[in-house]
Amino acid sequence: MESEKKGVLIVISGPSGSGKTSVSREVCRRLGERAYFSVSTTTRPKRKGERDRIDYFFVSKEEFRRGIENGEFLEWAEVHGNYYGTGKIQIEKQLEEGKIIFLDIDVQGHRNLKKLFPREVTSVFVTTPSREVLIERLRQRGESEEVIAQRVRNAEEELKAVGEYEFLIINDQFEESVRRLLEIVDISLLKVERLEIPHFLKEWKGEV
Ligand code: 5GP
Repeated sequence: MESEKKGVLIVISGPSGSGKTSVSREVCRRLGERAYFSVSTTTRPKRKGERDRIDYFFVSKEEFRRGIENGEFLEWAEVHGNYYGTGKIQIEKQLEEGKIIFLDIDVQGHRNLKKLFPREVTSVFVTTPSREVLIERLRQRGESEEVIAQRVRNAEEELKAVGEYEFLIINDQFEESVRRLLEIVDISLLKVERLEIPHFLKEWKGEV
C-alpha cells in the first residue's frame, strides 16, 4: 500500500559490551535487501579490525565540525570525548525507499531522532543480564581493568534512560536476542503511527 511505503527506523541503544551491534548487524543481514544498517561518522580512532565506511566513516574533528556547519547530520552527539553523527542524506534516502533502517546510537541520539521522526522510530534497549556479565564480557574482549571500570560507569549512566525505550532485550543468548529483534521489527511494521491515515482511508475506499 502506498500509505505504508515509508521506512522504519529501528534505534538500538545500550551499553558498550551489551552485544547490541552484533545482534542488530545479524538481524540486518538476515533481512537482506529490505534492511539497511546506518553507518555513522565518528572522530574516534579506528579500532583493530574496523574498516572505514563499513563500521564507521572515520573523520577528523575538523571535518566533523564542517559537517555540522553544513547541516550534514540528522543528529550528532559527543560520546566519551568523541563526536558521533548520523548522516542526513543516507537516512532520508533509505526512508523514502521504505527500508528497515537500523541505527546503533546512544541515548542522546535516540532522543533527537524521536523528536525528528516520532512516527518512524521504534526504540530498543539492549543490555547484558547483569553488571557482572558485562564485566565478564569486557574481560573476554581483552579490555584493561581501567577501561572496564569506565565502561561499567557509562553503562550504569545509560541504563538510567531505559524507561525511554519501547522494547528491552536482555542479551543472554545471542540467537534468542536475534529472534527477539526480528519480532520487534515485524511489530514495528504494524504500527498505526506509520500510516498516513487520510491516505489509508482513501485507499481503503478505493478512491486512489
Ligand atoms: P563505539 O565507539 O563503542 O563504537 O560507540 C560508542 C557509542 O556511540 C555507542 O553507544 C554507540 O551506539 C554510539 N554511537 C555510534 N554512532 C552514533 C551516532 O551516529 N550518533 C549517536 N548519537 N551515537 C552514536
